[in-house]
Formats: sequence, C-alpha cells, structure tokens
Amino acid sequence: MNDLKKSVQFMKGIGPKRAKYLEKIGIISIEDVLYAFPREYEDRSKMKNIIDVKNDEQITIKGYVCGNVEEKSIRKGLKIYKVPVKDRTAMTYAVFYNSPFIKKVLKKGERIYLHGKVKRGFGQIQILHPNYEVIEGKEETMINGIVPIYSLTHGLIQKDIQNLSNHVLELYEKTIEEYLPYDTIKRNRLCHIQYALHNIHYPSSVKSLKIAKFRLVFEELLILQTGLWLIKNKFNHNKEGVVFNKTPKVNELIHSLPFQLTNAQSKVLKEIEENMESKKVMNRLVQGDVGSGKTIIALIALYKAYLNGYQGVLMAPTEILAEQHLYAAKELLEPLGVKVELLSGSIKKKKKEEILRSLENGEIHIVIGTHALIQESVYFHKLGLVITDEQHRFGVRQRRTLSSKGVNPDVLVMTATPIPRTLALILYGDLDVSIIDELPPGRKKIKTYCVDEKKRSKIYNFAKREIELGRQVYIVAPLVEESENIEAKSAQELYEELKVTYLKDFTIGLLHGKMKGYEKDEIMNQFKEGKIQALVSTTVIEVGVNVPNASIMIIENSERFGLAQLHQLRGRVGRGEYQSYCVLVNYGKNPLSKERMKIMEETNNGFIIAEKDLELRGPGEFFGTRQHGLPELKIANLFKHMKILKQVQNEAKVLMNEDKTLALEKNLMLKNRIMDQFDKSIEQISL
Ligand code: ADP
Ligand code: MG
Repeated sequence: MNDLKKSVQFMKGIGPKRAKYLEKIGIISIEDVLYAFPREYEDRSKMKNIIDVKNDEQITIKGYVCGNVEEKSIRKGLKIYKVPVKDRTAMTYAVFYNSPFIKKVLKKGERIYLHGKVKRGFGQIQILHPNYEVIEGKEETMINGIVPIYSLTHGLIQKDIQNLSNHVLELYEKTIEEYLPYDTIKRNRLCHIQYALHNIHYPSSVKSLKIAKFRLVFEELLILQTGLWLIKNKFNHNKEGVVFNKTPKVNELIHSLPFQLTNAQSKVLKEIEENMESKKVMNRLVQGDVGSGKTIIALIALYKAYLNGYQGVLMAPTEILAEQHLYAAKELLEPLGVKVELLSGSIKKKKKEEILRSLENGEIHIVIGTHALIQESVYFHKLGLVITDEQHRFGVRQRRTLSSKGVNPDVLVMTATPIPRTLALILYGDLDVSIIDELPPGRKKIKTYCVDEKKRSKIYNFAKREIELGRQVYIVAPLVEESENIEAKSAQELYEELKVTYLKDFTIGLLHGKMKGYEKDEIMNQFKEGKIQALVSTTVIEVGVNVPNASIMIIENSERFGLAQLHQLRGRVGRGEYQSYCVLVNYGKNPLSKERMKIMEETNNGFIIAEKDLELRGPGEFFGTRQHGLPELKIANLFKHMKILKQVQNEAKVLMNEDKTLALEKNLMLKNRIMDQFDKSIEQISL
C-alpha cells in the first residue's frame, strides 16, 4: 500500500485517542494531514508591544498570563472568559466565548503568543477570540517567520497539528508523486506538488505561499471541473435532435394571453424557440426568480412541440406543483385542442393504465407529472420536448431516463433557485443558460423583517389583523435536517400551539412531508379556496405553490434555513395585488446568522441572495455537496477564485478535447485522483 494512504496512527505520537480527535477534522490517513491546509497564517516577524496596538488591528503579541481567568455569564447560553495577559509595556485581556477549557490551558504564569483582532474601549485593550500558543522552553525557535494556524477541534491544540504536519512533510515529502499531467503544469505555470504541499504548510516566504496556493486552488477546481464533465459526458451531446418548425399559431397564443410577456420572458422564449428550430439537441437551463413567470414559457414551448406533431412532458418535484401546472396547462391549451393529462403516484391503477395507453398511442399530447413519469412502464408515441421544473431536485440520471423515452428530445430545465454565476459555470458548463431577470409589472415588493423571539406576539397579532382583513398566512416550522419525522413533529407542535393561542379564532391547517399525497392536496386546496386561513407547514410549500391571497409568511427559526431557501419560501407571498410581508423569527445568537437575515431584509433579488449564501456558507452548504457526492473544496473558493476558474475551464477543455474520457496514459494519474475525490454515488449527483 502507498505509505500515504496508511492510517495517521502510524505517525509517532499519534495513538488511538489522538487519531479520534484528528478524524473529527477529517484527518484519517497520513495523506490527509498534507491536505488539511492551514486556515490562516501568522506572520510573527511582525510582533507588537501591547501598548502600541490599535483598535481593529490584527496583531501578534508575546506575553505571559498575569492572573486567573475571569469567568462571566453574560446571558443564558453565553459565557465569556477573560484571560489577563501582560508584556513589558501594558496589559490586555484575551477574551473567549463559551470556552471553559481555556482555564486549563492558559494558566497563570504561562508564556504565550496571542494573535487576533484588537478591541480598545472602556480603558481596556482586548483581543477577541485570539489564536494562542503556549511557549514551551526552547521550542520558541519555530515561532519566527510565517506560522500555519489550523482548524482545531476539542482535544487538539495548534502545536499538535503543527508538529504533525511538520513530521509528515519531513518523512514523506519526497515520496509524493505529481499527478497533474506534465503539459497542464507547463501550460499553467504550476509548481510541483511537493513544493506546493511544503509551502502551503511551511511557506519560506509570502511569495512561495502564493505560488503553492495557486497550484492547489487550480488543482482542486480542475478536479471538480473535469470530474463533472466526465460524469456528464460533456463532449457527447452534439447529437442530432428534433427540428421544430416555426408556426404563426405560437404567436397567436402569445397575443391571446391576458397579459403581455415581459421583455425578459420574450428574450428567453426566443432563445428556446431558436434551439427548438435547430437541428442540435437543446440543453437549456432557464433560471428565473420566483414569480418571474417560467410556467407560461414552458407551456408555450410545449404548445410548439404539439403543433409540430410531437408530445411533450413536464416533470415537477411534487404532486402539488404538478397539479398546479396541470390546471394552468388545461386552461391555456385545451381550448386549442391539446390533450393534457396528469401522471403521478397517487393516480389509481385503472386510470393510470388508461393514461399509459393513450400516451403510447399518442392520444395524449402533453403529460404533466412527478417522478412517476420516469418509471419503466411509461412509453411515448413521439416525445419531442422534455421539461423539468425546479431541477435541483432531480438527479442527472433521472433527467436522462426521462429523455431516453424519446429519440434525442429537446431538453429544458427550469429553476427558481438562482445559481450564482460562478457555480453555474462549473455545474452547468454543458447547458446553455437563459435568465428571466425581470418580474411582471405591478408586483409589490415583499417587505421583510427579521425579529427575535421577544417580538413573537407582536408578529402574530399583526398576522391576526391581516387575516381579519381577509388575507391568509403561511407559518413555516423550523427546519430539522436530521429527519422528516422530527420535522413533521415540530410542525405539528407549532400547529397545536397556535391553535390554542394566537390563532385560536381562525381556521388553521397543517402540512408536512409525512402526510399522504392526497392529504396534502386536500389541505392545499382548502388553503387555495380560502377555507384555511393560516397554514402551518414545513418546507413542502417551498416550491412553486401559488395562492395570491396569502400576504404574510412567518418563518420560525429562520436562522436554520439557507438564504436561497428562505427566498424560495418568501416567494410564496406577494403573488397577488396585496402588500405582502415576510417575517423571519430569528433565534440565532451569532453575528453570522444576523448578517444573513439582514441580507434577506435588504434585497428581494434572488441572484444577490444566492451569491451571498454561497459566500457566507460555502458551496458545500449551498448545494449540500456531500450529499450530492461532489468533492469538498478545501482551499478553492468559488467567489474569490473566479479568474482561476476560467483558466481551469480552458485547461479542462484542452485536456478533454484531446482525451474525452481521460484514458490516455499521461492523464491516468489525474483520472485516478478524480475518482478518488468524487463520491461513489456520483451517478446521482443532482445538477
Ligand atoms: P414562476 O417563475 O415562479 O414559476 P409562475 O410561472 O408561477 O412563476 O408565474 C407567477 C404568476 O405570474 C402566475 O400567476 C402567472 O400567470 C403570472 N405571470 C406570468 N407572466 C406574466 C406577465 N408577463 N405579466 C403578468 N403576469 C404574469
Ligand atoms: Mg414555477
């Protein structure tokens, strides 16, 4: 076995207990140590005297703990620990939150380094949550120059990982083989992997750190990009597809609509029509914020397919949504002679068989449905256009299965989750992207407020008044990641609470993912008809649901949701003529959650929100990459490294134009690396 793949326990000083701690930060093998990059560096050549430090400055000081740690309870759940530290010139406090172990580590008399941000005020100098290092005798020599600072977990201190990475480099550095193709290295002026790994941990200068970083960022993005393209066979779909003809009937339909298409809608429709009229198979992603009017675009495209004698299919992730599309399609297209049907899991066997038969013999022109559409038993007579709505819920494989039911049908993917430009570039490198960046006129901006729990009664009183005015209210229960069962329970509890408190005078409904399809539909229909005035729900209402009379959305524990998700939820209101409100009830204490909620207050633009979400939480959180099987980005940042990403994409194109499956000898090491990094469940990656 390659030595680098061995357990980190083979390293001197690492026993089972340490190994367990290390595992918590993702270090299992010796190689993992090399790829556990420092989260930051301290330049200790620039040490300061305490007396000279300025407010808000990042500094390193050297001193000793001159007293006992003071422990204070600020409020429930928040304790601070103040460590008094002195040097020759003055005194400062190192301040930590909820870190009881600090009392054991920073004992009176210890000599230490502190590195962090300075707060001056009230006659004190404080350094908030600093990095610290206890100076032990002669080890002080290591301190000079640029020192790596690693992410820690309970049970580990900086020294542990610093020593470990140092040892691993000493022992194994020379055995690390280069895995990027020689040409790639040359074309992009990358440093060798040995140099990169050495200097990312122990840079000999600021410049060598930069060189090392560039290489590692480049490599990480290259692996992600080539990997994705490998999976998706990017270079495989210049297939010939259906050619749909222009017909005046499409324009007649557009003119008969009760509204005028927005400029953005017209532009996107034109892009779609051009694709449909060309010989090449269409692969287009339509991104448009909630309410931007994607459905009508899909229906027009389906109509065009019908006019050309082809069948079309529209797949949605939930029954509720599929039914909503069905109504819209029937209303618009049936008077024009188009036969539209629904195919979903809850349809009775007999009826289903009938539908399957008419699909196969071509009597049904357009079928709308859920996952039920991709079952083996579904055959089409002549499928020409495949549309999936809210695609991020479907995997590549599902999309492909659906397409394979026709002969190279055109494919349209619609999403209301605005995907940041950078991510779209990576993920949809193979799709053309259309953006509907304009809402239909006359929409009122949804007013968004973030409040803490103390304002809860005020909020619900406000909701009561709106209901009395005839409006309806959504209340979203806290998101529970671990289990749909617990989530259903939390919605249930909230429902029980509201029924006997704030909303006791109104009809109130409950909707969650554990309910049967028909139960959900019934509740949703009652809400649509106004029979239910307040609807308590989990995120099942996230996608697409349209009830114009609903004017308030209250989201409990909003800090648990992703911003993009909050934005989706918020899009359920503001669909009618009424001024609408979104209230985020935030129980989160940390500044980051406040900052995130503030973004929601400030903008209604889904693209800005998505970018911010990506920036604040990283792409992993954003896409749930791990659950999608994508490799984790350890050093690359899709925000900061946009320029490098472009360079990477050029390189990936060059590589794969020559060798589209990376099967050539010279590319094999890279390919192995890709296989290694991507999860086994790669086939199901949802893109
Ligand atoms: P989404 O993009 O979120 O799927 P929908 O397609 O559900 O949005 O459209 C939201 C609402 O806006 C629907 O009631 C639809 O009929 C209406 N709508 C769509 N386009 C226009 C337009 N150009 N002018 C006015 N209303 C429109
Ligand atoms: Mg929609």
